[in-house]
Amino acid sequence: MATTTNAADPSYEQSKSIAEASRETEWKQPSFGRELFLGNFQLDLIHPQPQASAEMTAKGEAFLAKLRRFLSEQVDPLQIERDAKITDEVVDGLKALGALGMKVPEEYGGLGLSQVYYNKALALTGQWHSAIATLLSAHQSIGLPEPLRMFGTDGQKREWLPKVANTHISAFLLTEPDVGSDPARMTTSATPTADSAGYALNGVKLWATNGAVADVVIIMAVVPKTETSKGGITAFICPTDSDGVTIEARNAFMGLRGIENSVTRLTDVFVPNQAVVGGVGKGLKLALATLNTGRLSLPAIASASTKLALKISREWASERRQWGAPVGKHDPVAQHLAFVTGTAFGLEAVVDVSSRLADDKRNDFRVEAALAKLYASEMGWKAVDTMIQIRGGRGYETAQSLKDRGEKPVPAEQMLRDMRINRIFEGSTEIMHLLIAREALDQHLAVAGDILDPKVAMADKAKAAVGAAKFYAGYLPTLVTGEGQRPNAYAEEFGSLAPHLRYVERHARKLARSTMGLMGVHQASLEQKGALLGRVVDIGAELFAISCACVYAHSLAGRQPARREELYELADLFAKQARGRTDSLFSELFSNHDAAQYKTAQKVLEGGYEWWESDILDPSGEGPMIPKHEPPATRQFEANGSGNGVAAPDVAQQAEVVQ
Ligand SMILES: Cc1cc2nc3c(=O)[nH]c(=O)nc-3n(C[C@H](O)[C@H](O)[C@H](O)COP(=O)(O)OP(=O)(O)OC[C@H]3O[C@@H](n4cnc5c(N)ncnc54)[C@H](O)[C@@H]3O)c2cc1C
Repeated sequence: MATTTNAADPSYEQSKSIAEASRETEWKQPSFGRELFLGNFQLDLIHPQPQASAEMTAKGEAFLAKLRRFLSEQVDPLQIERDAKITDEVVDGLKALGALGMKVPEEYGGLGLSQVYYNKALALTGQWHSAIATLLSAHQSIGLPEPLRMFGTDGQKREWLPKVANTHISAFLLTEPDVGSDPARMTTSATPTADSAGYALNGVKLWATNGAVADVVIIMAVVPKTETSKGGITAFICPTDSDGVTIEARNAFMGLRGIENSVTRLTDVFVPNQAVVGGVGKGLKLALATLNTGRLSLPAIASASTKLALKISREWASERRQWGAPVGKHDPVAQHLAFVTGTAFGLEAVVDVSSRLADDKRNDFRVEAALAKLYASEMGWKAVDTMIQIRGGRGYETAQSLKDRGEKPVPAEQMLRDMRINRIFEGSTEIMHLLIAREALDQHLAVAGDILDPKVAMADKAKAAVGAAKFYAGYLPTLVTGEGQRPNAYAEEFGSLAPHLRYVERHARKLARSTMGLMGVHQASLEQKGALLGRVVDIGAELFAISCACVYAHSLAGRQPARREELYELADLFAKQARGRTDSLFSELFSNHDAAQYKTAQKVLEGGYEWWESDILDPSGEGPMIPKHEPPATRQFEANGSGNGVAAPDVAQQAEVVQ
């Protein structure tokens, strides 16, 4: 069968313009992450760490204690794994605890927990079984509660927040069979009804977590442009018992067994005007703004798994003896153990620093949250994989099988399977690199973008050059020297960790200088050098993580002075590992094989080596990679604009709409 695609094929420029239009462009508050990429290490933006009130802390701790008891006494993680199902009793128990409304304000019937405690709760559930954490996080971080809290009208909040805090599970439906990282391809349509009372939704939504059991969902659909409306991608609240909503399938995955992930078909589903959240055409902006905070859930879960991986690694490496000693005494295994230990501390620090910034609300933390998502999903994966290596064959064996043979049912292989998706959903690593690189380059694009843009006329380039010269004349000298060169800088407060902060300060300036160097070398084509930009972002992530580790160790030592030495050792361990990675990344910025690799990949794409695959026995057989999804049978609404309830939106028109 031939491979087909469903949507018109938007150009790179159209996809980019949609992403660009959805970006938050203003920086109303200071941003540690943004400044770091500009070479300005503003430690005071993350240190001293903001502390929650005693009342908030007590409330959070009390909830964590109840949750811990509930999980350990009433939830069997092996059963979830066996049945690929979270039982109704467990879901009801979570509802009774208030776990559906952890972040919903108390006035709407929620628990009103802080981001710090919401993340701690996700971490706890994630360690017990990731599917529970995913249920709670898909419901609260991207489902109805967060977008409503941020963008809902008073009426929407009064109607829905009490429900989603206590009884109603929600989901977020953006992805389609032909829409993953690129919303410009979206074909789900929202056509105004003839009486202008609302919209008819038509389309197919793929991979909606909680979608198979949700009571209410947020749907992203495209409103067509009309004489009176600019249209564009829009977010709608839709109860799942609405006529025309069909759950066509429950999907199964490599991991996260037990999540209720759906293929949902929408056939002339009526939603009233009051169901629009945040305004027509504002759907992606809403999604991105929601994710600014929502993105902290995944690092919280990934960090908690990494800490569990440390416990598992330590217990095994000290008990298992081979070649006359515990395996942890053999140098290669000891190196693995040190890596898992350092990573666990670094990730916990990143999550804690970012979450406190979110609660404090005095900083713009979108770059930090994005870095946290990117970094924790990548490093957490490596750490859990390392734990598997330390466990040897038992790392590959299921917990159930271990239990059946009378061994402790350590869920190591499940943790690896569950961890893998974090690098893909809520912004894949490649897309996070793009998003963060865009923020990292924002200041440069603002002052020098026109000079680099080949489409800009010479006269305008000259005008831009004058402005850029003025900006860089003031900016460049700030990148030459700084605190990091002063021998005792940061030592008074941070003691033995001060050299790491000096390293961050020096290398933040180096990163900014290198970024400008890359812009000079590659000019407008830098945008196409995704691997290179990825390294720039990864360096920023490592520098951010080192800063977090030092700040977090310092904060914890303030609360637990007796543990100061160990805390500083952990931060030092992580910082040394991160510095090693940073140095390698710097060396690859100007010396790499990217161009040759790209050329080879294009030859692979064109089938240049296809002859070499001729001896493969491919078990996938025949079938389309992306089957054509038939438009749903429609009752033909007398719609405004297109006059047809299922007309696929014109992608070029969408791009124009959001510009
Ligand atoms: C278990 C699971 C749960 C999910 N839950 C939800 C949910 O609740 N709601 C929802 O709406 N969606 C959900 N998704 C979808 C998820 O968000 C997407 O899988 C993700 O956005 C990536 O899209 P894709 O899989 O179509 O990959 P594609 O977009 O097809 O990308 C394929 C590869 O190309 C890379 N790539 C794509 N574009 C670029 C580019 N411009 N530059 C560089 N690299 C690029 C990607 O990073 C990836 O490596 C879920 C998916 C899974 C598997």
